Amino acid sequence: MTVTGLIREATISRQDAEALLATVLEVERAWIYAHGDEQVNPGNIDRFRKMAAARADGEPLAYLLGYRDFWTLRLRVNRDVLIPRRETEHLVEWANECITAGARRVLDLGTGSGAVALSCKAEHPEADVCATDLSPKALACARANGDDLNLSVDWREGDWFDAVPGERWQLILSNPPYIAAADPHLNEGDLPAEPARALISGETGLESLRHIIGRAPDFIEHGGWLLLEHGFDQASPLQEALFAGGFITISTRRDWSGQERITGGQWLS
Ligand code: GLN
Repeated sequence: MTVTGLIREATISRQDAEALLATVLEVERAWIYAHGDEQVNPGNIDRFRKMAAARADGEPLAYLLGYRDFWTLRLRVNRDVLIPRRETEHLVEWANECITAGARRVLDLGTGSGAVALSCKAEHPEADVCATDLSPKALACARANGDDLNLSVDWREGDWFDAVPGERWQLILSNPPYIAAADPHLNEGDLPAEPARALISGETGLESLRHIIGRAPDFIEHGGWLLLEHGFDQASPLQEALFAGGFITISTRRDWSGQERITGGQWLS
Protein backbone atom coordinates (compact mmCIF):
# COMPACT_ATOMS: atom_id res chain seq x y z
CA MET A 1 0.00 0.00 0.00
CA THR A 2 1.31 3.44 -0.97
CA VAL A 3 1.11 6.72 0.89
CA THR A 4 -1.54 8.00 -1.55
CA GLY A 5 -3.45 4.72 -1.40
CA LEU A 6 -3.69 4.88 2.38
CA ILE A 7 -4.87 8.50 2.38
CA ARG A 8 -7.49 7.68 -0.26
CA GLU A 9 -8.93 4.64 1.50
CA ALA A 10 -9.44 6.51 4.81
CA THR A 11 -13.01 7.65 5.43
CA ILE A 12 -11.89 10.85 7.19
CA SER A 13 -11.01 14.25 5.71
CA ARG A 14 -7.89 14.27 3.55
CA GLN A 15 -6.37 16.89 5.78
CA ASP A 16 -6.81 14.76 8.90
CA ALA A 17 -5.56 11.65 7.09
CA GLU A 18 -2.42 13.47 5.96
CA ALA A 19 -1.75 14.78 9.47
CA LEU A 20 -2.19 11.31 11.00
CA LEU A 21 -0.03 9.58 8.41
CA ALA A 22 2.71 12.19 8.84
CA THR A 23 2.67 11.48 12.58
CA VAL A 24 2.80 7.70 12.07
CA LEU A 25 5.67 7.99 9.58
CA GLU A 26 7.40 10.64 11.73
CA VAL A 27 7.74 13.02 8.80
CA GLU A 28 6.68 16.60 8.07
CA ARG A 29 3.33 16.99 6.34
CA ALA A 30 5.10 18.25 3.16
CA TRP A 31 6.91 14.91 2.85
CA ILE A 32 3.56 13.24 2.17
CA TYR A 33 2.98 15.32 -0.97
CA ALA A 34 6.36 14.51 -2.46
CA HIS A 35 6.28 10.77 -1.66
CA GLY A 36 2.80 9.65 -2.70
CA ASP A 37 4.13 6.55 -4.49
CA GLU A 38 6.24 5.36 -1.58
CA GLN A 39 5.30 2.00 -0.03
CA VAL A 40 4.30 2.09 3.65
CA ASN A 41 5.42 -0.84 5.81
CA PRO A 42 2.76 -3.13 7.35
CA GLY A 43 3.32 -1.93 10.92
CA ASN A 44 2.72 1.66 9.92
CA ILE A 45 -0.26 0.73 7.74
CA ASP A 46 -1.81 -0.92 10.77
CA ARG A 47 -1.08 2.04 13.06
CA PHE A 48 -2.48 4.50 10.55
CA ARG A 49 -5.67 2.48 9.98
CA LYS A 50 -6.31 2.27 13.72
CA MET A 51 -5.87 6.03 14.12
CA ALA A 52 -8.05 6.78 11.09
CA ALA A 53 -10.76 4.49 12.49
CA ALA A 54 -10.60 6.25 15.86
CA ARG A 55 -10.83 9.62 14.13
CA ALA A 56 -13.84 8.41 12.11
CA ASP A 57 -15.33 7.39 15.46
CA GLY A 58 -15.04 10.94 16.80
CA GLU A 59 -11.71 10.93 18.62
CA PRO A 60 -10.31 14.49 18.39
CA LEU A 61 -7.46 14.90 15.93
CA ALA A 62 -5.33 16.67 18.53
CA TYR A 63 -5.51 13.70 20.93
CA LEU A 64 -4.55 11.29 18.15
CA LEU A 65 -1.66 13.45 17.01
CA GLY A 66 -0.69 14.11 20.62
CA TYR A 67 -0.26 17.81 20.05
CA ARG A 68 -1.99 21.08 19.17
CA ASP A 69 -0.33 24.23 17.93
CA PHE A 70 -1.29 27.26 20.00
CA TRP A 71 0.13 30.80 19.82
CA THR A 72 3.76 30.16 18.80
CA LEU A 73 4.00 26.86 20.64
CA ARG A 74 3.46 23.19 19.88
CA LEU A 75 1.79 21.78 22.98
CA ARG A 76 1.35 18.15 23.83
CA VAL A 77 -2.23 17.28 24.70
CA ASN A 78 -4.05 14.19 25.90
CA ARG A 79 -7.47 13.28 27.29
CA ASP A 80 -6.57 14.86 30.65
CA VAL A 81 -6.64 18.38 29.19
CA LEU A 82 -8.87 20.63 27.14
CA ILE A 83 -7.61 21.04 23.58
CA PRO A 84 -6.35 24.64 23.32
CA ARG A 85 -8.65 26.80 21.16
CA ARG A 86 -7.79 29.61 18.81
CA GLU A 87 -10.10 32.01 20.66
CA THR A 88 -7.96 31.61 23.77
CA GLU A 89 -5.11 33.29 21.88
CA HIS A 90 -7.07 36.53 22.39
CA LEU A 91 -6.67 36.05 26.15
CA VAL A 92 -2.92 35.64 25.63
CA GLU A 93 -2.84 38.74 23.44
CA TRP A 94 -4.53 40.88 26.10
CA ALA A 95 -2.40 39.34 28.86
CA ASN A 96 0.76 40.19 26.95
CA GLU A 97 -0.38 43.82 26.69
CA CYS A 98 -0.73 43.91 30.48
CA ILE A 99 2.70 42.35 30.97
CA THR A 100 4.24 44.83 28.51
CA ALA A 101 2.58 47.60 30.54
CA GLY A 102 4.32 46.37 33.70
CA ALA A 103 2.53 43.36 35.22
CA ARG A 104 5.24 40.95 36.35
CA ARG A 105 3.48 38.52 38.69
CA VAL A 106 1.10 36.52 36.54
CA LEU A 107 -1.34 33.81 37.62
CA ASP A 108 -3.17 31.44 35.24
CA LEU A 109 -6.02 29.60 36.97
CA GLY A 110 -7.03 26.20 35.60
CA THR A 111 -4.15 25.97 33.17
CA GLY A 112 -4.91 22.56 31.60
CA SER A 113 -2.14 21.90 29.05
CA GLY A 114 -0.43 25.11 30.21
CA ALA A 115 -1.36 26.91 26.99
CA VAL A 116 -2.01 30.39 28.42
CA ALA A 117 0.76 30.38 31.03
CA LEU A 118 3.39 29.06 28.64
CA SER A 119 2.44 31.47 25.85
CA CYS A 120 2.82 34.41 28.24
CA LYS A 121 6.15 33.11 29.50
CA ALA A 122 7.38 32.48 25.93
CA GLU A 123 6.57 36.06 25.00
CA HIS A 124 7.78 37.60 28.27
CA PRO A 125 10.60 35.61 29.91
CA GLU A 126 10.88 38.41 32.48
CA ALA A 127 7.41 37.65 33.90
CA ASP A 128 7.00 35.37 36.92
CA VAL A 129 4.27 33.04 35.80
CA CYS A 130 2.40 30.71 38.13
CA ALA A 131 -0.29 28.30 36.91
CA THR A 132 -2.75 26.13 38.78
CA ASP A 133 -4.95 23.16 38.09
CA LEU A 134 -7.15 20.96 40.21
CA SER A 135 -6.17 17.91 38.19
CA PRO A 136 -2.72 16.36 38.89
CA LYS A 137 -2.88 14.70 35.47
CA ALA A 138 -3.49 18.01 33.72
CA LEU A 139 -0.60 19.55 35.68
CA ALA A 140 1.66 16.69 34.61
CA CYS A 141 0.82 17.53 30.99
CA ALA A 142 1.43 21.24 31.57
CA ARG A 143 4.72 20.55 33.32
CA ALA A 144 5.85 18.30 30.46
CA ASN A 145 5.06 21.11 28.03
CA GLY A 146 7.08 23.55 30.12
CA ASP A 147 10.02 21.12 30.18
CA ASP A 148 9.83 20.45 26.42
CA LEU A 149 9.75 24.16 25.66
CA ASN A 150 12.28 25.07 28.31
CA LEU A 151 9.88 27.58 29.84
CA SER A 152 9.88 27.98 33.57
CA VAL A 153 6.43 28.24 35.16
CA ASP A 154 5.56 27.67 38.81
CA TRP A 155 2.96 24.85 38.64
CA ARG A 156 0.56 24.52 41.61
CA GLU A 157 -2.13 21.95 42.27
CA GLY A 158 -5.40 23.09 43.80
CA ASP A 159 -8.92 24.38 43.43
CA TRP A 160 -8.70 27.87 41.88
CA PHE A 161 -7.18 30.30 44.43
CA ASP A 162 -6.74 27.55 47.07
CA ALA A 163 -3.55 26.66 45.18
CA VAL A 164 -1.95 30.03 45.99
CA PRO A 165 -2.94 30.94 49.56
CA GLY A 166 -1.78 34.33 50.81
CA GLU A 167 -0.23 35.51 47.54
CA ARG A 168 -1.07 38.48 45.34
CA TRP A 169 -0.75 38.95 41.59
CA GLN A 170 -0.59 41.81 39.12
CA LEU A 171 -2.35 39.84 36.42
CA ILE A 172 -4.84 37.01 36.91
CA LEU A 173 -5.97 35.03 33.86
CA SER A 174 -8.36 32.19 33.41
CA ASN A 175 -10.09 30.18 30.73
CA PRO A 176 -12.28 28.26 33.18
CA PRO A 177 -15.10 25.87 32.35
CA TYR A 178 -18.05 27.99 31.26
CA ILE A 179 -20.54 25.72 29.54
CA ALA A 180 -23.91 25.01 31.19
CA ALA A 181 -24.38 21.35 32.15
CA ALA A 182 -27.38 20.88 29.83
CA ASP A 183 -25.91 22.70 26.81
CA PRO A 184 -26.38 20.50 23.71
CA HIS A 185 -23.12 21.94 22.34
CA LEU A 186 -21.41 19.46 24.69
CA ASN A 187 -22.39 16.65 22.32
CA GLU A 188 -20.69 18.22 19.32
CA GLY A 189 -17.25 18.06 17.73
CA ASP A 190 -14.36 17.30 20.07
CA LEU A 191 -16.26 18.15 23.26
CA PRO A 192 -17.55 14.65 24.17
CA ALA A 193 -13.95 13.42 24.38
CA GLU A 194 -12.64 16.32 26.46
CA PRO A 195 -12.54 16.36 30.28
CA ALA A 196 -16.00 17.38 31.48
CA ARG A 197 -14.62 19.42 34.35
CA ALA A 198 -12.61 21.56 31.92
CA LEU A 199 -15.83 22.39 30.05
CA ILE A 200 -18.83 22.28 32.38
CA SER A 201 -19.17 24.77 35.18
CA GLY A 202 -22.62 24.07 36.61
CA GLU A 203 -26.24 24.70 35.79
CA THR A 204 -25.72 28.17 34.31
CA GLY A 205 -22.15 27.89 33.05
CA LEU A 206 -21.23 31.03 35.01
CA GLU A 207 -20.41 29.32 38.30
CA SER A 208 -16.61 29.11 37.97
CA LEU A 209 -16.35 32.59 36.45
CA ARG A 210 -18.38 34.05 39.34
CA HIS A 211 -16.31 32.15 41.88
CA ILE A 212 -13.08 33.55 40.44
CA ILE A 213 -14.45 37.11 40.34
CA GLY A 214 -15.71 36.77 43.92
CA ARG A 215 -12.36 35.66 45.34
CA ALA A 216 -9.99 37.63 43.10
CA PRO A 217 -9.90 40.78 45.30
CA ASP A 218 -8.00 38.82 47.99
CA PHE A 219 -5.37 37.75 45.47
CA ILE A 220 -4.91 40.76 43.22
CA GLU A 221 -2.56 43.70 43.75
CA HIS A 222 -3.65 47.32 43.58
CA GLY A 223 -3.67 48.21 39.86
CA GLY A 224 -3.81 44.54 38.83
CA TRP A 225 -5.93 43.08 36.05
CA LEU A 226 -8.31 40.13 35.95
CA LEU A 227 -8.94 38.75 32.44
CA LEU A 228 -11.46 35.98 31.83
CA GLU A 229 -12.44 33.95 28.79
CA HIS A 230 -16.16 33.19 28.56
CA GLY A 231 -19.03 32.02 26.35
CA PHE A 232 -20.40 34.21 23.53
CA ASP A 233 -23.45 35.26 25.61
CA GLN A 234 -21.78 35.74 29.00
CA ALA A 235 -20.14 39.17 28.63
CA SER A 236 -23.02 41.13 30.23
CA PRO A 237 -23.39 39.04 33.40
CA LEU A 238 -19.62 39.05 33.80
CA GLN A 239 -19.33 42.79 33.36
CA GLU A 240 -22.02 43.17 36.01
CA ALA A 241 -20.28 40.73 38.36
CA LEU A 242 -16.95 42.55 37.94
CA PHE A 243 -18.61 45.91 38.53
CA ALA A 244 -20.46 44.64 41.60
CA GLY A 245 -17.19 43.15 42.86
CA GLY A 246 -15.45 46.54 42.76
CA PHE A 247 -13.46 46.24 39.52
CA ILE A 248 -13.15 49.22 37.20
CA THR A 249 -12.09 49.85 33.57
CA ILE A 250 -14.19 46.85 32.60
CA SER A 251 -14.25 45.89 28.94
CA THR A 252 -14.93 42.98 26.63
CA ARG A 253 -13.03 41.89 23.55
CA ARG A 254 -14.31 39.83 20.64
CA ASP A 255 -12.64 36.78 19.16
CA TRP A 256 -11.64 36.17 15.53
CA SER A 257 -15.20 35.05 14.73
CA GLY A 258 -16.72 38.25 16.15
CA GLN A 259 -18.06 36.70 19.38
CA GLU A 260 -17.64 38.47 22.71
CA ARG A 261 -15.02 36.23 24.31
CA ILE A 262 -12.77 37.91 26.88
CA THR A 263 -13.86 40.28 29.65
CA GLY A 264 -11.50 41.99 32.02
CA GLY A 265 -11.29 44.62 34.69
CA GLN A 266 -8.77 46.38 36.86
CA TRP A 267 -8.56 46.39 40.65
CA LEU A 268 -7.81 49.81 42.11
CA SER A 269 -9.07 49.49 45.67
N1 GLN B 1 -14.61 27.50 24.11
C1 GLN B 1 -14.84 26.12 24.40
C2 GLN B 1 -15.98 25.58 23.58
O1 GLN B 1 -17.04 26.15 23.59
C3 GLN B 1 -15.06 25.86 25.85
C4 GLN B 1 -13.85 26.11 26.66
C5 GLN B 1 -14.17 26.31 28.09
O2 GLN B 1 -15.18 25.87 28.62
N2 GLN B 1 -13.31 26.96 28.76
O3 GLN B 1 -15.81 24.61 22.92
